[in-house]
Amino acid sequence: MSPLAEFPPESRSTGFAMLAEPFQRRAVLAAAIGFGLALLIRPDALVPCLVGFCAAVLVLLLPLRAGGERAASGRGSTREVPGARPGGQLRAAVDALREPAFLIDRAMILRHNNPASLVAFGNVAINEPVSLRFRSPDFLATVEAALRQDEAAEAAFEERRPFDRIWQAEITPIRVEGTGAGGPAFFLLLFRDRTVERRLERMRSDFVANASHELRTPLASLIGFIETLQGPARGDEAARERFLGIMREQARRMSRLIDDLLSLSRIEMKRHVAPSARIDLRDVFEDVRGEMELMAEENGLEIRFERPEEPFIVLGEEDELIQVFNNLVENACKYAGGGGRIDLELSAVTEGGRRFVDAGVRDHGAGIAPEHVPRLTERFYRVDVASSRSKRGTGLGLSIVRNLLLHHRARLIITSELGRGSVFRARFPIADTADEVKSSQQ
Ligand code: ADP
Repeated sequence: MSPLAEFPPESRSTGFAMLAEPFQRRAVLAAAIGFGLALLIRPDALVPCLVGFCAAVLVLLLPLRAGGERAASGRGSTREVPGARPGGQLRAAVDALREPAFLIDRAMILRHNNPASLVAFGNVAINEPVSLRFRSPDFLATVEAALRQDEAAEAAFEERRPFDRIWQAEITPIRVEGTGAGGPAFFLLLFRDRTVERRLERMRSDFVANASHELRTPLASLIGFIETLQGPARGDEAARERFLGIMREQARRMSRLIDDLLSLSRIEMKRHVAPSARIDLRDVFEDVRGEMELMAEENGLEIRFERPEEPFIVLGEEDELIQVFNNLVENACKYAGGGGRIDLELSAVTEGGRRFVDAGVRDHGAGIAPEHVPRLTERFYRVDVASSRSKRGTGLGLSIVRNLLLHHRARLIITSELGRGSVFRARFPIADTADEVKSSQQ
């Protein structure tokens, strides 16, 4: 059996240096002095004195050697040995773990770390306290308590650098056959990266909170108006007409929100199945122009689309693609605030040696401040909440667009300049490339 613990070379040396404890060294010295004195007094008793001296030294050495051998064969406790390091089999087992793992001793000194931990935490000094690497007081206190009580424990901690990470650590005593009365010599620290899980949990609870808030506002206003109509405004014809108009608008707002929420969950459910129909984006743009012309006109805008000669084929679902571009054109009408026209643009681009089709909606309006651009596709994110609500926005439009595009293995690229307008571009893999992507996924 491979040893539970190995020792630095100096602790294996024999002779005087093997007597690690100072009292043992002093005892051997005392025996030698006694031997010398006995010889001075009785020079004729050389042989008995020599035998006595050797017996004294042997008695002192034997327990040490036996202890060293016990530890080396893995059957003894190694906790008293300074600088002990885990044995080969234990180290190999820890190295085989896919998660970052440390072996620490009872003094919280790091004795071994596996390759996964190097990726997660960088180089952490062996034979140094782990507290030099991990600063979270709660985490260190939990480890300390587990070590003191020889018990398994769990602790979570967050790191801010080099980037935000949430770790869950399990502290487990390594109990092997023959673990001494003093308890296990080593403890395993196993780290699990919980960042994505926690972020998803947070997103889910934020989403529920946002959705409830969005529904609660019109609901509260509906209840308020109903109570007013039943009470103080009872019999007031003019007030009733006005309030009923507001109530209808609030009810519609709730209905739009529920439609958008259902739409989002429907898209998410089928996101992993890529669409397979060959769609010419020129036809999609023609349809969108037809459907949105009236709304554009009402906002003093013209939709321009110069139909290219060659087709722009992508793998898609026509209804979803029309929904994407209707939504982008609607936003341009609602938020761009002028500019006279909206351009629908198709172009072929190459990125990283692969060919894509860009389908863009360009407005020439107010533009969006750079700090908002990366957050536009977040659910319920609006640049100006009041303006969005007054324009019947739910804050879910671009999130739906993004999800529909993900279903098409496409992505949304937003560029904007204040005072000059914005371009919302969908970048699709070209149909033959999309075929490759699909076959590689199967
Ligand atoms: P909403 O339901 O509020 O329209 P969206 O997700 O569609 O939500 O859009 C999010 C926000 O992005 C809008 O509230 C608006 O502030 C901003 N926005 C979207 N498109 C444009 C645009 N073309 N120009 C300026 N702002 C825009």
